[in-house]
Amino acid sequence: MDQPTVIAIDGTSASGKSTTSKALAKRLGYAYVDTGAMYRTLAWYCLKKGADIHNARSVAGYCRRWKTELTCVNGHVRLVIDGYFPAKEIRTEKTSAAVPHVSAIPSVRIWMKKIQRDCIQFGDLVMEGRDIGSNVFPETNYKFYLDATLAERNRRREAEGVMENLAARDKRDSQRKAAPLMVPLGAIHIDNSNKSVDEVCNFIVAEMKKITRAIQAG
Ligand code: C5P
Repeated sequence: MDQPTVIAIDGTSASGKSTTSKALAKRLGYAYVDTGAMYRTLAWYCLKKGADIHNARSVAGYCRRWKTELTCVNGHVRLVIDGYFPAKEIRTEKTSAAVPHVSAIPSVRIWMKKIQRDCIQFGDLVMEGRDIGSNVFPETNYKFYLDATLAERNRRREAEGVMENLAARDKRDSQRKAAPLMVPLGAIHIDNSNKSVDEVCNFIVAEMKKITRAIQAG
């Protein structure tokens, strides 16, 4: 049997990864995986437990011990903790500020990579994050990197009612040693500052067809 297809969508914060990935997954009938939500869930869990998120050993300990499970509901894959998915809690300013510290810890990334690769039990995937094409599924032929101007990304976050220093988060994500945010080798770079979600999805589907044809032609 063919291996499931994975479309890797990496990019900066508020670059439209979630909106694009969800729309693309729906169009193609693939399952959608938000890996940022997984790191956010760990950050939220550590804060809830009163852990010092700057203490790598303490965070790594929580990550080793927490009781999680992967579920797929309506085509969306989720990491649930004790049967609960903290949808609202992981979007607060406090969690957003904590998550880059948690996600920079090497043993946390090893744990996350394993659980993220396990998502292929749900079939073909659109997986969004920071290191999907470079680290989680480096073997996939379908890698895209989304970006938009900082002004446009700030505008999008503000429209969602979230005030956040996006540049600072991107800097932390890009400068960490373990699986930093980068344009994965072979990824197609898309600046969507002036593009609609539909335009970006059309572009990705067209590029995927070209890639598939090139692979088939050998
Ligand atoms: O995508 P989102 O903004 O929800 O990601 C939250 C944070 O999770 C990022 O700023 C980054 O620190 C971390 N992350 C990561 N690797 C991923 C996805 C997210 O380090 N694949």
